[in-house]
Amino acid sequence: MEFKELTVDELSQGYVWDESAGAYICIFCGERFEEGLIHSSHGRMLTAERAVKEHITDAHGGVFDGLTSLDKQIHGLSDSQRDILEGMYMEKDNKTLATELGISVATVRTHKFNIQRMKREAKILLALLEQIENPDVVNERKRLDPKSDGGQEPFAYQDNEFEINRLHPFFTQFNLK
Ligand SMILES: [Zn+2]
Repeated sequence: MEFKELTVDELSQGYVWDESAGAYICIFCGERFEEGLIHSSHGRMLTAERAVKEHITDAHGGVFDGLTSLDKQIHGLSDSQRDILEGMYMEKDNKTLATELGISVATVRTHKFNIQRMKREAKILLALLEQIENPDVVNERKRLDPKSDGGQEPFAYQDNEFEINRLHPFFTQFNLK
C-alpha cells in the first residue's frame, strides 16, 4: 500500500494495519508495532494497537499535528488555511483567532466558509473517484447496465503515472504491501 491509497479513516487514525507483516504502522514515520508482542511505553505494558496510538501522540503530537506537518505538496493547504484549522482545533473563537493572526473577524469567517466549501468539494471528488477507481462500484454499475452483455472482464483501475507518495520521504521509507 502507498500513501495515495490510504483511506480517510486511515489518515484520521494515523496508522494502518499491515496484514502481511502482522503489525500496525505509523503513517507519519513508518514505525512498526508488531501484534503479539508486548510493547512498553512510560513504564507500562501495551498492546501493539495501543502502542501505535501512543506513539503518534508522543512522536508526532497527535494526528492533527502529524497531518498539518506533512509537506505542503501533500496536504495542499495554504499557510492561512492551516492557521485557521489549527485555531479551530484549539477551539479558539473567531475574535481570538482574528487577533492572533492579525486579520479581521470577517476574514476568519471567510476562511472558515472556504474550508467548509473545500470539504464539500473534496467529498464529491472522493465519491466521483469511487465511480472510476473502485472495482466493486464499477463492476456493479456494469452488471446493472441493461446494454452490458455481462461478459466483460472484471475491472481494476490502475494509474501508475500518479505517484504523489514520491513527494514525501516518509511514505517511501516503508513499503506497505
Ligand atoms: Zn511515527
